[in-house]
Amino acid sequence: MSASSASNGARQPVFVLVGGTGDLAMRMLWPSLAMLDQDGFLSSDLRIISVAREDCGTDVCVDRIGEAVQKRVGESLEAETLSRFRKRIVHLALDAAHDDWGDKLKAELGDIDKLDIVFFLSVSPSLFKPICEHIERAGLSKAPNRVVIEKPIGRDLATSKIINDSVAHAFDESRTFRIDHYLGKETVQNLIALRFGNIVFEPLWNAQSIDHIQITIAETVGVGERLGYYDEYGAIRDMLQNHLLQLLCLLAMEPPSAITSDALRDEKVKVLRSLKPITAENVQTSTARGQYGPGFADGHPIAGYEAEKGSPSNTETFVAIKAEIANWRWAGTPIYMRTGKCLPSRSTEIVIQFKPLPHSIFGAEAHANRLLIRLQPDEDISLTLMNKAPGLTSEGMHLQALDLSLSLIKAFDGNGDGKPPRRRIAYERLILDALNGNNAQFVRRDEVEAAWTWVDGIVQAWTDTHMKPQMYPAGTFGPVSAFRLIEREGGRTWND
Ligand code: NAD
Repeated sequence: MSASSASNGARQPVFVLVGGTGDLAMRMLWPSLAMLDQDGFLSSDLRIISVAREDCGTDVCVDRIGEAVQKRVGESLEAETLSRFRKRIVHLALDAAHDDWGDKLKAELGDIDKLDIVFFLSVSPSLFKPICEHIERAGLSKAPNRVVIEKPIGRDLATSKIINDSVAHAFDESRTFRIDHYLGKETVQNLIALRFGNIVFEPLWNAQSIDHIQITIAETVGVGERLGYYDEYGAIRDMLQNHLLQLLCLLAMEPPSAITSDALRDEKVKVLRSLKPITAENVQTSTARGQYGPGFADGHPIAGYEAEKGSPSNTETFVAIKAEIANWRWAGTPIYMRTGKCLPSRSTEIVIQFKPLPHSIFGAEAHANRLLIRLQPDEDISLTLMNKAPGLTSEGMHLQALDLSLSLIKAFDGNGDGKPPRRRIAYERLILDALNGNNAQFVRRDEVEAAWTWVDGIVQAWTDTHMKPQMYPAGTFGPVSAFRLIEREGGRTWND
């Protein structure tokens, strides 16, 4: 039984997916729901209502959903799951911004006082306001009903406030679930387990022992069909403001008092508020902006961003930032973050670079320890340790760096068949949590606003200093300035 039924007595759970025929829904949301069904996480009486402008009728819509689910998770899907799953779905062709759609939905729903409804708005944020107004007007926004919204939550602090205010009119904060799908990733959740489930890291997890931290989210693809959207946002708003800063928070936050939603999010927001502002004075040495030019990436020749757009653009497709957290734990330890498109490899990884020994009896042979946490494409954790190189030498002992390595895929080979377990779609965790009313892995409004406050300062500093993106050939790790950013100090280098 789902916790939504458990926590709301006899109310019947309903999942309303607005934007049910869209790209996100087809690639991620329907397959996630189907797998939750297969694994027994959906209440047997859960109804799913797809709302979209397309007037395709339930049968055609459900066929399309079935195809999308097969395409994404077909290898793991059992035939009876799909037939059970299809029966849950009704499609309503409605313009959620203009129609009196709340009333039409209500007519479909029946006695709304007996329902526990999750609205998932998989549509452009410009529609959140009219959609929430219609939901409220139809009396569908009362507790326990809740809303899930997707990024982007604005393109700066001011626009994020407009979006948040329009949603807040209908749903209070405790019933507003802002998705950052990185928080649904198994490996990202493992950061919490790693940090707070082991005693060995905590005494070293500070500026006294850690020289610097690197966080990289590298994509091999270009902007593709998202160019219209992307050109308005760029890498700093599309990736850094949300995913990279969420990773930073999980790495840098103080131990929360409990694993409850407010305890976790209180600690994350403190990190965001402690980020040292980047201003016109230090933006040139603290940030790098790049835009991919002609080259070769993801197995294809790339014409370059401006050529794809067909006109000049000041939008960055790569950003690197040296962030500093002004608090007792982290003062003096820089955190280098970077993300970009058309890079040589697709990976998400975190490097915790420890400081050198205070005094080395082995001379320069003793390298500093390094903890590498790789989240994508493979999930593994490795700690570089110094060892005695085996064998005899006439000069005495020599050291050799070796990795203590943990492959999470091998470690959690639940079937014992040597095959890696199915990698869950991040949305599975998040949809399940939304159905259960658990918002710990969703982003609170004050987190969004603190992140925008910091990012807005950087964008303003770029404008004030006329700092334009530097071209980097597609298929390379960003512009020269990104290398200078890290190499400027103490012989540091990116872990490429
Ligand atoms: P999309 O354009 O492919 O689909 C939009 C869906 O919304 C369609 O089903 C369409 O019928 C429906 N829709 C649009 N206007 C409507 C209206 N007035 N009334 C009812 N239905 C309406 O968009 P998408 O790529 O699926 O993205 C959806 C949201 O998710 C956007 O906010 C996007 O920024 C966000 N997002 C998408 C992705 C992705 O990978 N596609 C990733 C992260 C975030």
